[in-house]
Amino acid sequence: MHTFKALGLTGDVLNGVISAGYTTPTPIQTEAIPVACAGRDLIGCAQTGTGKTAAFVLPLLDRLAGPTASRRGRRPCALVLTPTRELALQVEAAIRTYGQHTRLRSLVVYGGAGLRPQIERLRQGTDIVVATPGRLLDLMNRGHADLSQVACLVLDEADRMLDMGFIHDIRKIVAGTPATRQTMLFSATMSRDVQHLARSIMKDDTATVKVGEQRNPAETVTQHACLVPNPRKMDLLVHVLENEPVQNVLVFSRTKRRADRITRQLVRRGFSATALHANKSQNQRQRALDGFRQGRFQILVATDVAARGLDVDTISHVINYDTPSQVEDYIHRIGRTGRAEATGDALTFVSGDERGYLRSIERHTSQRLPRKVYDGFTPETDREDEPTEPRRTGYHAPRSRRRRNRRRR
Ligand code: AMP
Repeated sequence: MHTFKALGLTGDVLNGVISAGYTTPTPIQTEAIPVACAGRDLIGCAQTGTGKTAAFVLPLLDRLAGPTASRRGRRPCALVLTPTRELALQVEAAIRTYGQHTRLRSLVVYGGAGLRPQIERLRQGTDIVVATPGRLLDLMNRGHADLSQVACLVLDEADRMLDMGFIHDIRKIVAGTPATRQTMLFSATMSRDVQHLARSIMKDDTATVKVGEQRNPAETVTQHACLVPNPRKMDLLVHVLENEPVQNVLVFSRTKRRADRITRQLVRRGFSATALHANKSQNQRQRALDGFRQGRFQILVATDVAARGLDVDTISHVINYDTPSQVEDYIHRIGRTGRAEATGDALTFVSGDERGYLRSIERHTSQRLPRKVYDGFTPETDREDEPTEPRRTGYHAPRSRRRRNRRRR
C-alpha cells in the first residue's frame, strides 16, 4: 500500500497531510505526486472528487518549503489559476491546510471583490497566489502582480477555464512567468483546445497521468433517471426530499430564474434552501455556500456555472431538476456527490422534452441510467422510443422515423 511518505513528501508537508487526517493517497495522488516532486511538467486528467487538488498542492508546497527552496521574497514563487472564485477559495484553503506546518504565505485574488485589499495584500508579499485569470491579469496590467519569480504554475480545471473564454487571459498570464517554470495542468476532459494549450506552454517531456474513464462519472455515485412531466417536478422533488434518506442536497436548475423559483417554492413548503448563481453578489454567494457547508441550509439550488468545482464533502444527493443538455455538465453535476471516500446518489428528472438529452448522456457515458419510478409521478405516456426534442423548436421526426416508431409500439 502507498503512503504519502513513499511518494516522496517530506517534513512539514508530510506533517500537513497527517494533520489533515489523510493516510492513504488517492490514485491520482499516487501517480501525480512523485512525477511532480521530481520537477517534471505534468498533465493530470481527473475530475473533481478524485483528490486532484492535493495532487498538485502537495508537490507545490514540497518544492517551495524544501531545503533547496530559494529565499522568500515579496514576489510569488507559485501561481494557481482556477476558473471560479469558489474554486480559488477552496484551493487556497487546501494550501493553508496542507501547508499549516510550513511558513509559506498564500493569498487569493478573484473578480467581483474590491481591488484595493487584494493590491494591499500583494504589496505585503506572498509565496503562493491562487487567482482567477481576469482579475489577475487586471492586477498585472496595473503593475501590482509581478510573476517573474514564479517557479511553479498550475492550471486547475483547464477545460472549464477555456469554456469560460479565458484562453487569451491565460496566455498573457503565462507569458509573464519565466520559461524555466514547472507547469502542471489539470482537466476533467482533454478536448482539442486543452491539448493545444498544453502543447504550447508545457515542456516536451511532460508526463500525463489519468485516473478513471474520462467519460464515465465517478463510480462512487449511484445514478438514476426519473421520467416525470415538467409540471410535476416540484411535487416530485418534495416527495424525494421527504421519503429518501437525504442529508445535504444539491439541486441543479437550468437557469438562474428557475433556481430562484425552485428555492422560493421549497422554502414555502418548509425546507431550508438557498440559491447559488451568478446573479448573486459575491457576498451572497459566499453566505449561501458557507450556510450550506455548515448545515444551516439543507438544500442548495444551483446553476451549472455557479457550481463549478464546488467542493462540499457531505452532499448525499444531487438532483438534476432539469436534465443537463451537455454530457460534460451531467458528469460535473453528479461529481459533486460521492466525494473522496463517500458515496452519493444522483437523480435526474427527465420530462418529455428532455428525453433527447437523456439519450445523449447515455450514449456518451456508454451506460443506460436505471429508471426510478415514484408512484403517482410517472408520465401518462411512457414510451421512451418516442422521438423527443425540445418542443419549442417545432421539431418533427422525419416521416420514416415516425413510421418506425409506430411499428415498434
Ligand atoms: P478534490 O478532487 O481535490 O476536489 O478532492 C475531493 C475531496 O477529497 C476533498 O474534500 C479532499 O479533502 C478529499 N481528499 C483529498 N485527498 C484525500 C485522501 N488522500 N484521502 C481522503 N480524502 C481525500
